[in-house]
Amino acid sequence: MTIDLKSFIRDIPNFPKPGIIYRDIAPLLLDPQAFKAATEAMAAPFDGETVDVVAAAEARGFIFAAPLALHLNAGFVPIRKPGKLPFETHSHSYDLEYGSDELHVHIDGVLPGQRVIIVDDLLATGGTMQACCKLLELCQAEILGCSFLIHLAGLKGETKLQPYRVESAIVY
Ligand code: 5GP
Repeated sequence: MTIDLKSFIRDIPNFPKPGIIYRDIAPLLLDPQAFKAATEAMAAPFDGETVDVVAAAEARGFIFAAPLALHLNAGFVPIRKPGKLPFETHSHSYDLEYGSDELHVHIDGVLPGQRVIIVDDLLATGGTMQACCKLLELCQAEILGCSFLIHLAGLKGETKLQPYRVESAIVY
């Protein structure tokens, strides 16, 4: 039986700001079959490829990256905000609509030449994933592609992620 993953996404109008429809993944996470099907759909484009590491930025990326790593027989590496990782890190700062932010990864998290997939729950403008890609480029990783549960196609976030492969299980 195929599961309609979209039916497990709850639309919340006007969150976090008026005019935004927030795509809430909580109902999907509550249903073990839908959660498993979502993980498998996110891994499927990379099945059969050698993947060393699945990387993801906190917080919702972690939820999908860990089961994806197990499914693909790869390690998991967390990408975190400043001050969270205890060991030496590579870092990348990037601009936000107001201000800037920074992402870190342990220097031994991804080694040069390792084959990496980067995961997140949702692709909107692409800013978050672009920053993750730049951070992993600093690590000299071989980025195989980016895998999302949800892609908001109207925002054209994938253009920021060129030349990398962009895969998603649900498209709006
Ligand atoms: P971007 O950087 O592509 O503009 O935004 C994507 C990031 O914002 C992701 O890390 C994602 O978790 C979060 N995000 C933005 N909008 C939504 C949404 O409607 N639903 C969910 N679940 N996450 C969102």
